Amino acid sequence: VKVIVVGAGVVGSSLAFRLAAAGVDVTLVERAGAAYGTTGGSFAWINANAKRPRDYFTLNAAGMDAHRALRDELGEAPWLHEGGNLVWVTDPAEAAELEARLAELQQWSYRAEWLDRQQMHELEPRVRIEPDVEQGVFYADEAWIDGPLLARRMCALAAAHGATLRFACQVTGFERDAAAGIRGVRLAHSEVLPADLVVNCAGPAADRLAALAGRALPLAPTLGLTVRISNGAGSIGRVIHAPRLHLRPDSDGLVMLHHHDADQAIADGASAPDEARELLRRAAEYVPELAGARLSRWAVAPRPIPHDERTSAGLVPAIPGYAEIVTHSGITLGPLLARLVTAEITTGQRDPLLEHFAPARF
Ligand SMILES: Cc1cc2nc3c(=O)[nH]c(=O)nc-3n(C[C@H](O)[C@H](O)[C@H](O)COP(=O)(O)OP(=O)(O)OC[C@H]3O[C@@H](n4cnc5c(N)ncnc54)[C@H](O)[C@@H]3O)c2cc1C
Repeated sequence: VKVIVVGAGVVGSSLAFRLAAAGVDVTLVERAGAAYGTTGGSFAWINANAKRPRDYFTLNAAGMDAHRALRDELGEAPWLHEGGNLVWVTDPAEAAELEARLAELQQWSYRAEWLDRQQMHELEPRVRIEPDVEQGVFYADEAWIDGPLLARRMCALAAAHGATLRFACQVTGFERDAAAGIRGVRLAHSEVLPADLVVNCAGPAADRLAALAGRALPLAPTLGLTVRISNGAGSIGRVIHAPRLHLRPDSDGLVMLHHHDADQAIADGASAPDEARELLRRAAEYVPELAGARLSRWAVAPRPIPHDERTSAGLVPAIPGYAEIVTHSGITLGPLLARLVTAEITTGQRDPLLEHFAPARF
């Protein structure tokens, strides 16, 4: 079969790599460049921590394993940073929630442990923890990745396995055949690319692309702000969720900041630069040596969330020649979904992990 993958974010680039490595004739079509979409503006924390219900947790835990398996398969994964995640809270209601979640995660064999204040300090000596905090939780298997680096590397590996990369090419329509269904795509400059199967990996634009194929795919996107600041090299060692700020190291000596407060403020109409400056201010409160840091860049990106907040991945039986992978947590799930959907395309077998994430539900 000849397959077209639309979108070179973490999901589409991972899929193009897997398909090409399986010997499939694949073309990756991207309207901009690798990781120009949400992948480039993601906090990119690999986890299954708060993923519920249980089947979505299991999918994300398998996603974490898939990142490590990819590292082992390739012999290196310079995008993967496995330092764990340190969390603490100050609000009593949040403390009760944290305790309940920890107990549940431990029951599900997810590595999660209490640390006392001294142990937290030893883990992150440069971070100032609120004085009344006595303990926090450490999730040792969680990690962060450099999403753009992963997407670019997946594209390069796909090309090395024979895939064709078509960047700066926007898909504007589908070619159809009354009997066989989707038979290819049309590009903005009128070129037609024939294919036996088109896989929609267009992230937050997936609903618009699906509509062109005659499919209603309801998305409920939310906006998220991530901020990169300079002069952070060595200041923190891992993903940290503090009460007023989420932060992690980033490539090139930067530190990445995020908080749902800022996301909410932007949804309510606040300006992104103002919120970016507010997160920078909080960073200096938590890590005094970041007081001299400067804003490097910030991004407001939409999360590609299917309406029921669950992944949609696989063939769409009602539209022959069309498949999709659309998901929140695509950073955690990209390599796993790429492997599972490649198996579905090449063998016709659907993995049990995907049982409750079939596109046919829409
Ligand atoms: C603030 C924020 C924080 C997040 N934090 C996390 C996290 O900690 N952990 C986690 O796992 N997930 C997180 N996510 C979610 C995660 O980033 C996304 O699920 C993931 O990046 C989606 O990847 P994707 O490849 O599906 O989409 P994208 O990266 O958006 O890629 C889609 C690509 O399709 C291209 N495209 C679209 N339409 C067309 C067309 N018609 N023709 C050609 N190309 C087209 C776009 O240009 C784009 O490059 C976060 C998201 C945000 C916004």
